Amino acid sequence: MASMMQPQIILLKEGTDTSQGKAQLLSNINAVTAVGDVVRTTLGPRGMDKLIHDDKGSVTISNDGATIMKLLDIVHPAAKILVDIAKSQDSEVGDGTTTVVLLAAEFLKEAKPFVEDGVHSQNLIRSYRTASTLAIEKVKELAVSIEGKSVEEKKGLLAKCAATTLSSKLIGGEKEFFATMVVDAVMAIGDDDRLNLIGIKKVPGGNMRDSFLVDGVAFKKTFSYAGFEQQPKKFDNPKILLLNIELELKSEKENAEIRLSDPSQYQSIVDAEWNIIYDKLDKCVESGAKVVLSRLAIGDLATQYFADRDIFCAGRVAEQDLNRVAAAAGGTVQTSVLGTCEIFEEKQVGGERFNIFSGCPSGRTATIVLRGGADQFIEEAERSLHDAIMIVRRAVKNSTVVPGGGAIDVIPRQLCDNAGFDATDVLNKLRQKHAMQSGEGASYGVDINTGGIADSFANFVWEPAVVKINAINAATEAACLILSVDETVKNPKSESAQGDAAAGAMGRGRGGGRGRGMRRR
Ligand code: ADP
Ligand code: MG
Repeated sequence: MASMMQPQIILLKEGTDTSQGKAQLLSNINAVTAVGDVVRTTLGPRGMDKLIHDDKGSVTISNDGATIMKLLDIVHPAAKILVDIAKSQDSEVGDGTTTVVLLAAEFLKEAKPFVEDGVHSQNLIRSYRTASTLAIEKVKELAVSIEGKSVEEKKGLLAKCAATTLSSKLIGGEKEFFATMVVDAVMAIGDDDRLNLIGIKKVPGGNMRDSFLVDGVAFKKTFSYAGFEQQPKKFDNPKILLLNIELELKSEKENAEIRLSDPSQYQSIVDAEWNIIYDKLDKCVESGAKVVLSRLAIGDLATQYFADRDIFCAGRVAEQDLNRVAAAAGGTVQTSVLGTCEIFEEKQVGGERFNIFSGCPSGRTATIVLRGGADQFIEEAERSLHDAIMIVRRAVKNSTVVPGGGAIDVIPRQLCDNAGFDATDVLNKLRQKHAMQSGEGASYGVDINTGGIADSFANFVWEPAVVKINAINAATEAACLILSVDETVKNPKSESAQGDAAAGAMGRGRGGGRGRGMRRR
């Protein structure tokens, strides 16, 4: 009776679960810390890799923060933010993805006691913002410009940045070899923004030292017909014809109907078909091209026709490869383009045959052919090279670098832990150096070889300043975002779909969050 007189206010759908307040905030912080703990051990040159295998049975071995975060399949709503910042760091700068996740987790961990003591989130957020501005100013202050150096000098400096990125990866053992390769590749494409102008082709087998750089385009030999073997496989300064048309005899089976009144007309129809293709082939030959590539099929008739005239051809070339040849040889693919390069060659690389175009006049393309053992290894090598390429491109654009090895951030403790050094000892030494009035100790970082400290600048452990600036920015934003959330509302649908999974996966993720169960009827 009483409830009849006091009407209830129904605000949310039946079954909706909300948790709010301090407990919710703390539970979010715990979840984020848990994620930070997962990637923590991968940081730095002595960091470990993660082997992740999914329900489909595919296995990935990676050291790359963004890749790991993506594959972890995190379901906790707050912890998901970390996945986003790792992704954005990856696309913005390409490296520093583990760093950004660790920074965010660490920021929040530091905030936890304050939250427990009842400090209002907004105060914490304001302080974090101020701190981040100060930190970024300091990074800019410490950054050193590599502007105004000669090309050779610059190349050397850029290679150092690439080597620092690579030193934490599986291919770190060959970092100088790959760093030079990456710098040459980036220099080859100049200031063109399209990343896909640098191709990476993976050929399993062989040694990673067998990897090589083509100052042009290379792609795997396409499917070919009989007659192909009679075609020459090497040219100097050939004209290259790029087509977007089919060179195949088409029998008009399904898509046309022709009615003939006189059987003698039949031959003329057949002849017409042949004339069309011969006409196309003649035009190709007349163009003077020695290499004919097409995005569409080149049939057996055409293959033989070209073979008889000492012309090389390849059909069904992947669009990306064809576009890259076009960029390298000059022009764009429409229906046909004539370009040229210094040397065209079909070469055996491991178990595959490759079509290689090098010394292209318009430059602007480069291809790295990667060799190495297991598939997972090559995949990770490709991801690592991608990081290095991005870093070099960033460094070319905003040409300031900062010393790495934790010289400018909170990262050194983890670098030490991962390498098995005494972190407290190293940090004390670092603090002493960094506090020097003269400022000459500012570039000291962890010396990964001896377990002590060393001048990261002198050791050429360099990173582009944007890596750090972006990481600090993104981590602060993420931390503030999580601090500003005081209530999570789950509707019944999402509760059943992923709520259980979230609780299971994160363990302590939600625990305290149910401060006030607000089920209303
Ligand atoms: P991220 O995904 O954040 O780039 P990494 O695993 O690549 O993480 O580790 C990067 C960290 O390792 C950076 O802080 C960098 O300064 C440090 N680092 C790289 N090479 C060295 C080195 N030779 N000595 C000391 N620290 C290094
Ligand atoms: Mg890195």
